[in-house]
Amino acid sequence: GNINIAIDGPAGAGKSTIARRVAEALAYVYVDTGAMYRAVTWYMLLKGIEPEEDQKVLQTAQNMVIELKPGVDGQKVLVNGEDVSDQIRSLAVNAKVSRYAQIEGLRNLLVTLQRQMALRKGVVMDGRDIGTTVLPDAEVKVFMTASVQERARRRYNEIKDTAAITLEQLEHDIAERDRLDEQREISPLRQAEDAEFLDTTNMSLSEVTDAIISMCRT
Ligand code: C5P
Repeated sequence: GNINIAIDGPAGAGKSTIARRVAEALAYVYVDTGAMYRAVTWYMLLKGIEPEEDQKVLQTAQNMVIELKPGVDGQKVLVNGEDVSDQIRSLAVNAKVSRYAQIEGLRNLLVTLQRQMALRKGVVMDGRDIGTTVLPDAEVKVFMTASVQERARRRYNEIKDTAAITLEQLEHDIAERDRLDEQREISPLRQAEDAEFLDTTNMSLSEVTDAIISMCRT
């Protein structure tokens, strides 16, 4: 029967690429929970609502329709029917997302949606709190990381042609996002006790993918 797979770890560890590959190999559904926090952040920036205005953030988020749709070139993210897949990856969103992600009410709202998406199993979900909070009963849990230098380097190679950012800035941004995600009060970034730890610093994409798929077979 189908199982659920939870993949957590810090920013830029390759979670989404790996989660997508694992989902493809098993014909499972991939759910990128970071995209949901990003979609909310993008919308709040559009509406001029600051992370400090937590009640206003929550009310506004409750009235947003967030959809994740599988697409040919990755998952599409729609807010109120508008495709914002590119916009949610902007540097402005990167810089603010971890602030909005600290809001307890917002987390509760998104966690409820995430659990609904996983009810029928056969889901690969990636994020920060999937193994600890969203799907504590997931059959396979992975905590994936790599050195901050390696994570910045990988991300830099993906975006260097289009984004105006240096490797050093990127490394700084990633470290700052990790700090906020690890130190927040509500479901901080943590390895679940029963999660497998995977340091991918010296692993290729297919090695990581295969390692996770073999965990699903045992
Ligand atoms: O995974 P990604 O880097 O796109 O996530 C963006 C941000 O969303 C994270 O840095 C974190 O602040 C927040 N997030 C979270 N919980 C999740 C997924 C993402 O707090 N499950």
